[in-house]
Amino acid sequence: MKGKVCVITGATSGIGLEAAEQLGRKGARLVLVGRDPRRGDAALARLRAKLPDLEAELRYADLSSLGDIRRLATDLAAALPRIDVLINNAGAFFDRHELTADGLERTFALNHMGYYLLTRLLLEKVKAAAPSRIVVVASDAHRSATLDFSDLAGRRRTDGWTAYRRSKLANILFTLELAEKLAGTGVIANSLHPGFVATRFGDNSRRLGMRLLFGLSKRILAIPPARGAETIVYLAASAEPAASSGGYFAKCRETQPSAAARDRDAARRLWEESARIAGLDP
Ligand code: NAD
Repeated sequence: MKGKVCVITGATSGIGLEAAEQLGRKGARLVLVGRDPRRGDAALARLRAKLPDLEAELRYADLSSLGDIRRLATDLAAALPRIDVLINNAGAFFDRHELTADGLERTFALNHMGYYLLTRLLLEKVKAAAPSRIVVVASDAHRSATLDFSDLAGRRRTDGWTAYRRSKLANILFTLELAEKLAGTGVIANSLHPGFVATRFGDNSRRLGMRLLFGLSKRILAIPPARGAETIVYLAASAEPAASSGGYFAKCRETQPSAAARDRDAARRLWEESARIAGLDP
């Protein structure tokens, strides 16, 4: 990984920060994408304290905003001649139904459109680094979900879990279609489940009951962030996944996602609908 440029979203806490540290330890040059400058400074200070020779820089964006994703992508494309690894990781659960300024349900906007639009806008830079990789942090939460194409952007009121599960299904379908579109380019794309990990995930819930539930179950059941980051680092840096693209991984092994996550027609339709929402050519 020496000198390889790794762009990691959601890199200022949780699984993303741990993945950054593990990749930095392998010599990667890190571009950490965060949202909160205070947390960003703290994350970078923590990394530099552990890895004095680390090459790293911070960028900020609200990845639930299509305009901010475009601004970030323009800045990154101007600053970086190539991107060896793009890790789409920033994501969240929202327990209240809310629409963003773009009129998209917030979970869909951040967890799916954030990955989709940033990846599409940076694709030429990733291709320029081939052999290169795109890593997509999904979740086993996708297993009981199906997409609702009559309301893909989630404008109709749904509960937070339905929106979250659908967004993680969208991550896997997006990766499937991306891998197909990238066949023969030398760029591979794989998605993963990190495990149930003790991070800040769920701490933003507005309902006290939900925060308590997350807090308690994380304390009892969750693995530490360093372990949660292992499959990301495996897909980003190990030799073995080089032959595999479009797969879904857990515990550093390829595994079968749900039937809905293997539906190629849904993957194609999601790609096209997402392009329409983002104002891109499919
Ligand atoms: P976390 O809350 O610690 O980290 C989430 C990261 O996303 C943070 O760095 C945060 O700044 C960033 N983020 C959130 N909203 C953003 C926005 N609007 N714009 C830019 N960045 C934003 O949680 P985590 O557990 O490290 O989550 C990372 C990924 O792992 C998510 O995609 C999540 O869905 C996935 N995941 C987590 C678990 C788990 O058990 N923690 C399980 C499965 C999947």
